[in-house]
Amino acid sequence: MNFPDGSVKAIADPAGMSGSPIWLQQGDELKCAGNNRDKNFTSHKVQVRMQQLEHSINRYLTELDRADRDPTIVLPDRVARLKEKISKIKEQMRGLGEIEAHLQSSQERQVSFTDPDARSMATSRLGSAVVGYNVQTAVDAKHHLIVAHEVTNAVTDRGQLAAMAMAAKEATAHPSLIVLADRGYFEGYQILECEQAGIATMVPKALTSGGKFEGRFDKRDFIYDKERDEYRCPAGQKAIRRFTTVEDGKTLNKYWSSSCPGCHLKEQCTPAPYRRISRWEHEDVLEVVQARLDGAPAASRLRQSIHVLAYAFQAPDIMQALVDAKNRGVEVRVVVDKKRNRGKTSRKAMDFVTRHGVELRTNDHFHIHHDKTIIVDGHTVQTGSFNFAPSAETLNSENVVVIRGLPEVSSQYMAHWQSRWKLGKPYPAQP
Ligand code: SF4
Repeated sequence: MNFPDGSVKAIADPAGMSGSPIWLQQGDELKCAGNNRDKNFTSHKVQVRMQQLEHSINRYLTELDRADRDPTIVLPDRVARLKEKISKIKEQMRGLGEIEAHLQSSQERQVSFTDPDARSMATSRLGSAVVGYNVQTAVDAKHHLIVAHEVTNAVTDRGQLAAMAMAAKEATAHPSLIVLADRGYFEGYQILECEQAGIATMVPKALTSGGKFEGRFDKRDFIYDKERDEYRCPAGQKAIRRFTTVEDGKTLNKYWSSSCPGCHLKEQCTPAPYRRISRWEHEDVLEVVQARLDGAPAASRLRQSIHVLAYAFQAPDIMQALVDAKNRGVEVRVVVDKKRNRGKTSRKAMDFVTRHGVELRTNDHFHIHHDKTIIVDGHTVQTGSFNFAPSAETLNSENVVVIRGLPEVSSQYMAHWQSRWKLGKPYPAQP
């Protein structure tokens, strides 16, 4: 989850490093007029639409069968309309078939009509998307001036770091540029390209491990010994290099320890017989970037405070974002409905965030604590129907409102949060 209002903060001078920090602003979506989501197709969308049409045809055919059996039940006018509908649906299915054939032959992942270059992309509002363009901007952190910008149709920011950093370098002609960006820009080869061009990057790593959410060790718990080319695991065992492979175009070395099967920490480590650790051939570059971030916590302190009111509290990406924020030094406080979060999934989520220092209270003062609100830095408010649970992202119809620049409104939300916090009972952090 990316919190609203962008996600990168300018810094004055991280860790006393010389150079002019440039802040790569999370891509804004530029919506195209007339290019709405109904005119944008992916293969998945085509399949879903086909299934819906087939379902409709089957319903109409069933009704026609009934008319054949007993013409008095279905009137002739209705029969004529049904046949017309079926014919229109078949026409739509033919059109969808052509779109699918185009997607397959062109190897494009999506196609847009009206403006063929536009793409459907997720926005910073949870669960929403627009058909349009991704606007990248690089901002001088000291003077708040845009030094470079680019309009792309890339659906994520993942491949944008190097090009934008180079453009900023060219525009500023600075010999020792520092570029900050949020974790959405984290991509190994992009970072490598910047570092090789003399641009120091500060991009937090995207954490995708489900094991961490389950409370198991993540890769940061394994210490690499460069001289020996081996890892030291949390149990103090050596994980030696076993073989090299190529995954997604990256050469990876794989390490594991022979001690795993009898290890007393195995439950906290892996459900597999052995815990495998992957190391990219250029991982040392990423370690330099991480050390730079660790040495300059102010650089990655994207937010000062996050206050949450939740009904359901379960979505792994949101939990991870809250923990990441906490680890960056942000104050994170959460109030959740007590009854709604008694289940295993919620408990796991609550244990996960509290174990990482997030302050959490449960509230059973009301019939239900139905708030779904995030207040960032006391002035940006996200609210609406959106529950902090995966179903809100994938199954439900939801709405989200983001309020900025209305201090009298945000202060009322803060007062509301305070009142719920006072009514809440501390949820004890699990060991
Ligand atoms: S399971 Fe294996 S890798 Fe994990 S802590 Fe134990 S010995 Fe180390």
